[in-house]
Amino acid sequence: MTTQKKVLGTYNAGSNHWVGDGFPVRNLFPSNGVEVSPFLMLDYAGPSKFEPSKKPRGVGEHPHRGFETVTIAYQGSVGHRDSAGNSGVIYPGDVQWMTAASGVVHEELHEAEFTKKGGIFEMVQLWVNLPKAQKMSKPGYQAITKEQIPVIELEGGGHARVIAGELLGKRGPAKTFTPVNLFDVILKAGERFELPLPEGHNAAVVLRKGDVLINCEERLRGEALIAPLSEEGDTVTLEAKTDTQLLILSGEPIREPVASYGPFVMNTREELQQAVEDYRAGRMGHLN
Ligand code: MN
Repeated sequence: MTTQKKVLGTYNAGSNHWVGDGFPVRNLFPSNGVEVSPFLMLDYAGPSKFEPSKKPRGVGEHPHRGFETVTIAYQGSVGHRDSAGNSGVIYPGDVQWMTAASGVVHEELHEAEFTKKGGIFEMVQLWVNLPKAQKMSKPGYQAITKEQIPVIELEGGGHARVIAGELLGKRGPAKTFTPVNLFDVILKAGERFELPLPEGHNAAVVLRKGDVLINCEERLRGEALIAPLSEEGDTVTLEAKTDTQLLILSGEPIREPVASYGPFVMNTREELQQAVEDYRAGRMGHLN
């Protein structure tokens, strides 16, 4: 027998702001008080139109320590370079899973061709916490291309892309430190999808755009909304009223203290102070 996860509420973005000069974001948590451990933050950038430009827009050199940054590109492209020597371009449909762990310095800029031509830009950046035991491990980097992400065609004409974790027998390419599911789901108007999610996982339904009824009771309609779901239960029912674009997250909560300061997320204040010192002393490296 299956039990529905409870819808814990429906929320608009808690803040709208720019990250650097390239990412006009709506923050879906934690600015509105929503907590979905092991996830720390979700910014939805765009969709916004950028005019052609000579200078790449985005965020210049900055550090991270203690967690992972996951960037999902929907429209437009982002170029990335980091102090661990990794670089690449995240094209539409691709996902970059960067494990900052003990610390990296990186830049995230609109890719050269996109900068020159301009166009619609739409991305998600999700921060995934690391357990204490992995916060100071070696940084890592997974460049996941669109072709590597399994697609499940749904009966009503929609589909689900399995970025991380497992759905209906398909496994996503992302390697994670704790159990995490990340599914990119498109539903057609009138389509109903009963989505299995593990008992004991925190979860959330994120609406990029559309109109969806969750468990026949709560509705997300419009753009940039989130419904967190209970740990208890092992399914959620989604019914699209119009064509709908969703991102579904679930993960086993990390039950450890969280101390955060800007781009650093550790367990204690002392570890945060150490992170600031290490960054200032160049111990997280530099871009060449
Ligand atoms: Mn960053």
